[in-house]
Amino acid sequence: MPQTRVEIVGGGLAGSEAAFQLAERGFDVVLHEMRPVRGTAAHKTDRLAELVCSNTFKSTEVTNAHGLLKAEMRLLGSMILRAADEARVAAGSALGVDRDVFSRTVHEWVASHPRITVTRGEVTALPEVGIVATGPLTSDALAESIRARLGIEGLAFYDAIAPIVSRESIDDGIVFRASRYGKETMEGAGEEGAYLNCPFSRDEYEAFLDALGSADQFTAHEFDKVPYFEGCMPVEEIAGRGRDTLRFGPMKPVGLVDPRTGREAYAVAQLRMEDRAGRMWNLVGFQTRLRIAEQQRVFRMIPGLADAEFLRFGSIHRNSYLNSPGALSPHLSLRDAPTTMFAGQLTGVEGYTESTATGILAAINLARLLDGEDVVIPPPTTMLGALYRYLREADPKHFQPMNANFGLMEDLGERVRDKRVKREKLAERALAETIRWRNENAVTRGEAVAR
Ligand SMILES: Cc1cc2nc3c(=O)[nH]c(=O)nc-3n(C[C@H](O)[C@H](O)[C@H](O)COP(=O)(O)OP(=O)(O)OC[C@H]3O[C@@H](n4cnc5c(N)ncnc54)[C@H](O)[C@@H]3O)c2cc1C
Repeated sequence: MPQTRVEIVGGGLAGSEAAFQLAERGFDVVLHEMRPVRGTAAHKTDRLAELVCSNTFKSTEVTNAHGLLKAEMRLLGSMILRAADEARVAAGSALGVDRDVFSRTVHEWVASHPRITVTRGEVTALPEVGIVATGPLTSDALAESIRARLGIEGLAFYDAIAPIVSRESIDDGIVFRASRYGKETMEGAGEEGAYLNCPFSRDEYEAFLDALGSADQFTAHEFDKVPYFEGCMPVEEIAGRGRDTLRFGPMKPVGLVDPRTGREAYAVAQLRMEDRAGRMWNLVGFQTRLRIAEQQRVFRMIPGLADAEFLRFGSIHRNSYLNSPGALSPHLSLRDAPTTMFAGQLTGVEGYTESTATGILAAINLARLLDGEDVVIPPPTTMLGALYRYLREADPKHFQPMNANFGLMEDLGERVRDKRVKREKLAERALAETIRWRNENAVTRGEAVAR
């Protein structure tokens, strides 16, 4: 008799979506949510899919990365997005929702589903057949179980994220490529060196420090206060320790000779490749709590980044997340237990939309495994597939959570100068590929989502 009972741990966005998708595919689902028996520092209600902060799922336009991801999710039958439509409020081109109507709608659809049983209470062990979607505020006892299984490196409790900019927006007339003292330990980095280096004159450095010191910072919730370790100290915090601290720390210029001047600069900001194709570059050591507008203003003062396109902004949060590339299988399960799967923000994606999207794919793959089929992952020409590629291939030593962005996606294979036209082409290809992939893999088998 094939297994038909599955367990979902965590009734947030990813867990609710996954539970619904599995139930619609004919599985009996037990959805465990610890609230209200045990609360989190951010949730206020006992409802499923409570939005803890902003009330928007961001843009609906397919030329925006979040808009494209949502369009793909709709093709895969997302229940969460249909609930968002039911709760929609005017928010321009963004999908803004009345958070109360939204979570009530999800709660009703999930809790009243004939194949779903919602149980309340904290789960402290990993399920054998199920999906763990306990989010950025995963309870301590479950986090301990995960660490016992994956090792201490497998789960982090805080993120300290530096901004990422697109390669094509970096000014090659100013930056130069080199590894410090020409030493390179990474195979394949090439003669030219691994880093892009932004050289500062003394005046540029002083002006940058002044801007950094006076920029507006995000003020954290009490629970979100991060114990800073030397390795993840915000750049503005380091700058506040003294005028030369950055230049003797993450901005040290030694061993980096600017080929245009033949000398070392006064200070250097370094960018490290974030993806193997070299589309995304990470500002090394620039983890920050500056507000987004301030990050754009201040970091564009870095020589060579005046026109930087930010693919991800920096942040520092309380955030439990797995080192997916180092610890999980490509479909985000334990490597030695393919039906013990993970979804949501815990897997190292960031945001409501991204978290929900992984809930859909986790459900599709759990259903396939239990039906004796192979797992499937969309190609990296789609936004969802590109996110999964990042979770699979990012460097485990530097792994940090990621939001949807065009830098993750497979190149078009033709040069298109106009950014908008390029995005239109990427989006058109992504949607066609999603439909092809869905139809080939029959991933909406059964009467999925037609309520
Ligand atoms: C303070 C804060 C503000 C944020 N603001 C935004 C924002 O504005 N926009 C945005 O896009 N993203 C934001 N995020 C990220 C956002 O929380 C996630 O993207 C999204 O909620 C993740 O969905 P999820 O399903 O993975 O986790 P969640 O929605 O957090 O759901 C996880 C669920 O698991 C439950 N749970 C935890 N441990 C256990 C356990 N052991 N047993 C049973 N149940 C358990 C929790 O109670 C929770 O209901 C914010 C996060 C935080 C912490």
